[in-house]
Amino acid sequence: MSTTITGPEAEGVHWDLSTLVSDAETARARIETALQQTRAFEERYRGTVADLDGPSLAAALAELAIIDNELSRLSSYAHLRESTAVTDEENRDLVAVTDQKMIEAMNALRFFELEWIALDEPTARSLYDAPEVAGDRHYLVSARRYAPHTLSEPEERMLAERGPAAVSAWQTLFGQVTSTLEVPFDAGDGEEPHTIDRLLSHVRSPERNLRRRSLETLYTALEPHTPTLAHSYDTLVGDRLAMDRLRNYADPMDPTHLRNELPGDVVDRMMEAVEGQYGLAHRWFAAKAKMMGLDRLELYDQYAPLGAPREVLYPEARGLIDASFRRFSEEIADIAAGFFEEGRIDAEPRVGKRGGAFCSSVAQDASPFVLMNYTDRMDDVMTLAHELGHGMHFTLAAGRQSALSFHTGLALAEVPSTFAELLAFDLLMGHEKDADTRAALIAERVEGSFATVFRQTVLARYEQRAYALRAEGTTLNADRLAEIWITENAKYYGDSVRVPEGYRYGWSYIPHFISTRFYTYAYVFAHLTTLALYAQYREQGEDFTPRYIDFLAAGGSAAPADLLRPLGVDLDDPDVWEPGFAEMERMIERAEAG
Ligand SMILES: [Zn+2]
Repeated sequence: MSTTITGPEAEGVHWDLSTLVSDAETARARIETALQQTRAFEERYRGTVADLDGPSLAAALAELAIIDNELSRLSSYAHLRESTAVTDEENRDLVAVTDQKMIEAMNALRFFELEWIALDEPTARSLYDAPEVAGDRHYLVSARRYAPHTLSEPEERMLAERGPAAVSAWQTLFGQVTSTLEVPFDAGDGEEPHTIDRLLSHVRSPERNLRRRSLETLYTALEPHTPTLAHSYDTLVGDRLAMDRLRNYADPMDPTHLRNELPGDVVDRMMEAVEGQYGLAHRWFAAKAKMMGLDRLELYDQYAPLGAPREVLYPEARGLIDASFRRFSEEIADIAAGFFEEGRIDAEPRVGKRGGAFCSSVAQDASPFVLMNYTDRMDDVMTLAHELGHGMHFTLAAGRQSALSFHTGLALAEVPSTFAELLAFDLLMGHEKDADTRAALIAERVEGSFATVFRQTVLARYEQRAYALRAEGTTLNADRLAEIWITENAKYYGDSVRVPEGYRYGWSYIPHFISTRFYTYAYVFAHLTTLALYAQYREQGEDFTPRYIDFLAAGGSAAPADLLRPLGVDLDDPDVWEPGFAEMERMIERAEAG
């Protein structure tokens, strides 16, 4: 199948997965073989990790990489198939079988990391410093970072077994309350049941009254559920604090820092620096109010559209993206072109296809694939650039790193995607003649940065205060959560946005708080890092490009601080984020200038 580009809405642009695996039957057979290889690996190496030397560890890692690649390829194939035809029985069966076998394979392989973590430090060091495993040194070292926080095997098993009742049950309850909540709402075509997401979608409507009514309806609908939602959160926070004591974590953010491989003081300084820039937010809110002919923004005006972007058909999007990447680097542009030429993009929206967009890395020995729903909007051009940014990262890293070392952690994963968006944005702004399109583009850029940098910092700060309160022994009820929510948000909105009474329930439906604590700050980090890198690119021009490509090709072979240092981003420098804020200010100035 090829990506013939014919008409609107990316008609006919479907991916060709047969280059990954020829068909579902083959996938089923291959997953059985992979599972057998996994069991053979377990039989050979279980109980032996302590006795390995450099060459034999390298041989074990090479075998592990082959298994990892095959499992990743098969699992990705099943999930990619399903994502464009979610109700297809054959696809659903394949996903179910694959997921089950993946769990079995992971269980069989788990011993390897556990035995590796259990080695004493001198023994481990003599192994990870061996020249034969140099390519996977970071994987080996970083796997051990949880060692001081891991309990004995029976304790870990006990905690794992009580997990469903102690943790997941509260998350499920939260999910049930928030996903089944429906209220009648008239968005203009008569009353219809509205979920939380559907109500929230109206905050981007050009109709002011609709924006206001939808938020009011949301808060009124949430109110009766807030005691249950607060209690779920309170229980989870209490449990996490208890686990932190058992596992020797000094601060509730420490497990997140460890996962992201970022030092806590770097994150603290970043959050303080962001809060020091809320003046930029106030300035933008005032400017936006003026553009909308208002004295002051209401909360429901925050995401009101400015300008009106023109349509962009898929062939034009492809050309624009190619031109924007090619200005930066031929190598990068060629990688992106491969996605189009090799049928590795599925862009046509159709019934049974999942929403949103993603780039799947598939496996280190395969090429990545992009899914999106292209609807001829200017936004879609940015989304396509974003996903191809992930794609160039995966492609370059896979070429240089092993299966165990090519994935970058969450802190840097969104850097190449955001950088690609900035490349596309600059080209579009340079070419675009239509004033309404330009206004929309620039406003979306400013507000996109705000939604990541400022908003996600507010969320992380709110969580910090909730954990601190709970650690003092205060129960987190709806009133107390409302109070810290409003206090932290007030710093961001200042006097420039009027916040309605109902916003006191704004914390209640945010899933990250329930699922993954302090999840959001990694996105702030990645966004500010990208802006800082882009500022350097603007200053240095093509001198910057090879270093950036090296950074992409390094994948996950080092911690963020070490990956960024060669690019001139020094996380120990207290002013490291200043160029990022200067970029944000620059965008606001462009928006104000019109
Ligand atoms: Zn992304």
